[in-house]
Amino acid sequence: MKVVAITGKRECELVDRPDPRIKGNYVRVKILVAPMCTEFHQYRDGNPGDCLGHEAAGEVVETAGPARVNVGDRVVVMPQNGCGKCRLCLAGEHIHCQTPIDPLAICGTPTGRATYAQYCIQQDWLLVPIPEDLSYDHAAMACCGLGPTFNAMELMGVDRFDTVLISGLGPVGLGGAVNALFRGARVIGIEANAYRAALARSIGVAAVIDPNDPDARAQIMDLTGGLGADKSVETSSAQAAPALLAEATRPKGHLASVGWGGPIAASRIVGRGLTIHGAWHWNHFLHTDRMMHTIRGTKSMLDRTITHQFPMSRV
Ligand SMILES: [Zn+2]
Ligand SMILES: [Zn+2]
Repeated sequence: MKVVAITGKRECELVDRPDPRIKGNYVRVKILVAPMCTEFHQYRDGNPGDCLGHEAAGEVVETAGPARVNVGDRVVVMPQNGCGKCRLCLAGEHIHCQTPIDPLAICGTPTGRATYAQYCIQQDWLLVPIPEDLSYDHAAMACCGLGPTFNAMELMGVDRFDTVLISGLGPVGLGGAVNALFRGARVIGIEANAYRAALARSIGVAAVIDPNDPDARAQIMDLTGGLGADKSVETSSAQAAPALLAEATRPKGHLASVGWGGPIAASRIVGRGLTIHGAWHWNHFLHTDRMMHTIRGTKSMLDRTITHQFPMSRV
């Protein structure tokens, strides 16, 4: 199969690798869409490697035995792995599994982890069936595009009575805006990049604040009746972002972090009576219907936030 490899600083190419093999409850998926997440860091920094990508949607082409999916099924491939046996995995929280497993060792295959590739492998219970009326492009947003912020919305109970503040309007933050807007909330963004800010406004984000403005917090306060946003989502991973959100969320409000940024002082959490949530990924055991319903209801927004598409040959 063809696989994307980074070969130097801002250099990459397609290379040939063996097709992955499967065993047990593993399934081989032909990848048809692979959203770009954090891989550009490796490209920019020139970290050589041929195991890129953790997001995919595609078609099941092989099962090793009886499986929860069939050859021909259209599926979203959940990122990461889980043992499938611990309390967390059994509750649909495989992303937090504390029992590491190595799919390549289990299947005796040198390839299959990367999604910038023609094929990948995954356990059958970590594949989410795609409803017939949803395209691969839209369904693939159930990975990092919409997934972590969907979890943030669920954890914070976002609805149309809320003003939601989202820091960072990259692919994950824009997905947060899509999720919050779908639930009827008013959304305010924090973003310095003009292209991203314009994209956010075009899907209905009410205002975008530049975090480099010295009065950024004052602007947010002006937009929220002087109290701060009801609920906040951090997606930028900027060091200063969580502390800014803690100051810009109303007393007794909620703050969910998707980003892995800097600290929030306990004194501010207590002083403002905040509830803090960690939102890494979403629970596909509990919420597949709600996720697919979100995608179905936001197709026109997703068509704007999916800004570029390339065949793998143009990597
Ligand atoms: Zn991702
Ligand atoms: Zn587990």
